[in-house]
Amino acid sequence: MIRINENYKRLQASYLFVDIARKVKDFQNKNPDKEVIKMGIGDVTRPLPSVCLEAMHKAVDDLGNIDSFHGYGPEQGYDFLREPVAEFDFQARGADISADEIFISDGAKCDTGNIQEIFSEDCLVALPDPVYPVYSDTNVMAGRSGEFADGRYKNYIYLDSTLENNFVPDLPQKKADIIYLCFPNNPTGAVATKEQLKKWVDYAKKNKSLILFDAAYEAFIRDDSLPKSIFEIEGAKEIAIEFRSFSKTCGFTGVRCAYIAIPKECRIWDKEGNTHSVHSLWNRRHNTKFNGASYPVQKAAAAIYTEKGQKETKDIIDYYLGNAKIIRDNLIKLGYKCTGGENSPYVWVKTGTSSWDFFDMLLEKAGVVCTPGSGFGTCGEGYARFSAFNTREKTELAMKKIAENLF
Ligand code: PLP
Repeated sequence: MIRINENYKRLQASYLFVDIARKVKDFQNKNPDKEVIKMGIGDVTRPLPSVCLEAMHKAVDDLGNIDSFHGYGPEQGYDFLREPVAEFDFQARGADISADEIFISDGAKCDTGNIQEIFSEDCLVALPDPVYPVYSDTNVMAGRSGEFADGRYKNYIYLDSTLENNFVPDLPQKKADIIYLCFPNNPTGAVATKEQLKKWVDYAKKNKSLILFDAAYEAFIRDDSLPKSIFEIEGAKEIAIEFRSFSKTCGFTGVRCAYIAIPKECRIWDKEGNTHSVHSLWNRRHNTKFNGASYPVQKAAAAIYTEKGQKETKDIIDYYLGNAKIIRDNLIKLGYKCTGGENSPYVWVKTGTSSWDFFDMLLEKAGVVCTPGSGFGTCGEGYARFSAFNTREKTELAMKKIAENLF
């Protein structure tokens, strides 16, 4: 008899985006003449940089020519991409990461989910609340969560991100084995300082834990004193791995390209207490289950590391950051407490009511859609997420409608 993985029965149905879509549809049916502006979008809206398009077109042509044809590539990615990644994304910021410590993939979502396959089932998992749901659900699937009750899984160590700690969680009392950190954070937009990350690095060293650092939004960091990579922190190479993505950096949400940086020093233990290399384990897993990101996609990604590519990607991020500033400044002017929106595309707003009441009011009165914070975890209740992934015109119009109709 074929049987299911029983862990899947513990997964909670996620109604967040279904409920949002239903409420928006109802509103539009009742108010066919009213424009609805979606400020909840977590997907990019600007087109690809021209350097990426040119590189992708050329790479496609390569595939049509016998002399430049490419079949299977290296599973870990082509050197033409791994080398500039190591140089531009790490070495240029003083982080000593080499090209052979980079594993190119087709997305940070799959990477953050797949990586936990190399960890023991009984590892204790610490994850932020509010959270990017992939960290939570993939560990439910793997059997690390325990039962679900009152909005939380019994075996997880929740790292509360609140106004009191400026949405950068404090160290837990309990020993965690696997620690998920995400900065700039989705959904709160908070960014940890070097001093704050150093505390986590020291904690991980002391407790023999591993930090899974998700830096999918690092391109939005413009304050140079803030770390873009955990490997800017001394001692991190032994105890951390880092996830990056081209999705938000250069609009690749539909193209699909990302990578994990895994230092060779990064260690993990077996039950006899012998040390193993995370790099070797992941290399083995990657070679076995992945046949590489596509050649045209990797060529397109590599193009952002040229002088023109750096300028074009900076311009795109500047555009979104401009939207984020408009959202943040306007909501603060109206009296709302906001985090993020600086060094991040997300603005996290204290609503003063329940998250869903605020959502309903915003939609009914202003025709503006946000994402209710409660959908990201219990600590998200009483907050809403606004996204900068929109046009300038719609962002400005949404803020105008909120100012005119809510007060
Ligand atoms: N990590 C975080 C925190 C995200 O918010 C997202 C996407 O929204 C991802 C990872 C997924 O990135 P990718 O498009 O590379 O799968």
